[in-house]
Amino acid sequence: MHKFHFKDFDYLVVQPSPDHVIIGGSVYVEGDTIKAAGDAAEVEKQIKDNDDVKVIDGKGKLLMPGLVDAHAHIGDWCSQICYNSLNFDMIEEVDQILDIYFWPAWAWYTAEAAYDFTLFGLAHMLKHGTTCSSNNYLWAGPTIRALSDSGARGINHANLLTIIQRKDGKNGEEQLARIEETISEYHEPDGRVQVGVGPDTPWNVQSDILVKGMELAERHDLQYGIHIAEGFAEMEECEKLWAGKGGYMKHLLDLGLLTPRTLVWHGIAFNHEQIDILAERDVAVVHCPMRCPEFRYNTHLAYMLHKGMRVGLGTDHAPHNIFRSMYGCRLLQDATQREYHLENPWTPLELATQGGARALRLEDQIGTLDIGKKADLITYDISRESSFFPHTEATVIMGLIMQGPSGTTQDVMVDGKLLRQNGEFTELDEDDLWERTSRRINEFKDYYYDGLKQGKQMVVRNHPDYAGI
Ligand SMILES: [Zn+2]
Repeated sequence: MHKFHFKDFDYLVVQPSPDHVIIGGSVYVEGDTIKAAGDAAEVEKQIKDNDDVKVIDGKGKLLMPGLVDAHAHIGDWCSQICYNSLNFDMIEEVDQILDIYFWPAWAWYTAEAAYDFTLFGLAHMLKHGTTCSSNNYLWAGPTIRALSDSGARGINHANLLTIIQRKDGKNGEEQLARIEETISEYHEPDGRVQVGVGPDTPWNVQSDILVKGMELAERHDLQYGIHIAEGFAEMEECEKLWAGKGGYMKHLLDLGLLTPRTLVWHGIAFNHEQIDILAERDVAVVHCPMRCPEFRYNTHLAYMLHKGMRVGLGTDHAPHNIFRSMYGCRLLQDATQREYHLENPWTPLELATQGGARALRLEDQIGTLDIGKKADLITYDISRESSFFPHTEATVIMGLIMQGPSGTTQDVMVDGKLLRQNGEFTELDEDDLWERTSRRINEFKDYYYDGLKQGKQMVVRNHPDYAGI
């Protein structure tokens, strides 16, 4: 069994608040589990009779729980080419944006590209402190294989989408079958690699597929992630579409989609009344603050937390650096006049650790460095970290939220396995990943720009948005 002594760190963040920061702290790991955490001398006493213990020296470093990105489209690098190249209005032009900039990429992705892009994205996340993620991307098999190979923890909420034909399935039935195939091979209930079901939205996936997806999730006790209330245009269209059935929320309830296994991504446009319905049913939400400015509105996050909801933080699109989401969360909440406010200045760090763990139903395993939890932890060199200066328990916590570390992770452990050490990957070949991913991006760029120039049809539609079928 592996034994690791993370020894005498300048700062040890056991839980995400200044009260749980220890100056001169250590963590002892056996196998995949944290066996001791706290004051360095105390931990030393507890492990003194153990042999074969590998020591990670903490001088000049900070040690904290691995971060949780509860919503990301990790392999979706191609749509970034299109997405970032234009001026657009996400409210007025969302349909055209999807048709021109997202769906051509989603119709193009091959199994090999999906694997490489996902592994590249997961490596990027490990570099930036995220050890656990929920990924909503296509090609269920190759993407969960990438998760398994990366060493990171996560739930692969493979995407279901019926409006367009993709290479991993012309329709929802084929996409569902691909998710089902991955369950026996990869899904570890309570383990590092988990399968989830991830329909895109209630307005671009046929209702029968939404329901079948939920049935699949129930059969195997999987989580069910879905984008809802990303903006007001969606809410208005859906209210109109299902007016005869009592409105959007009533439609979702009638389909049986609002349950404790449901993870709503975004939820920007929910009002208090709608949040009450979600809270009553113990639905979890992932707040993605970097999307809020595009929809010119801020999520009612503080109200969700006031109602006791399980809320995590997500990055949604690249760059998948959850420190940016913490910063965005803090700024948006401070800038929004609301009846309810965040309880603590460090709430964003709580959301990116314990909150995300709760939202993903992993709170017994990860989110803090308490004894008995899985050994998912990250370290940073803060010996010259002037962004947090002067270093105290409070400035270190607020520095993480407001500035983020200046550098990338030094050491990363997931499930007791060391994935990075002294700023380098232990197994992943970063140069090879760069080379493969860059080559595939260039293939897509050539295809996409050529297609645009020649007016080629790059997307085959099955049905329109908001078809109500
Ligand atoms: Zn999303």
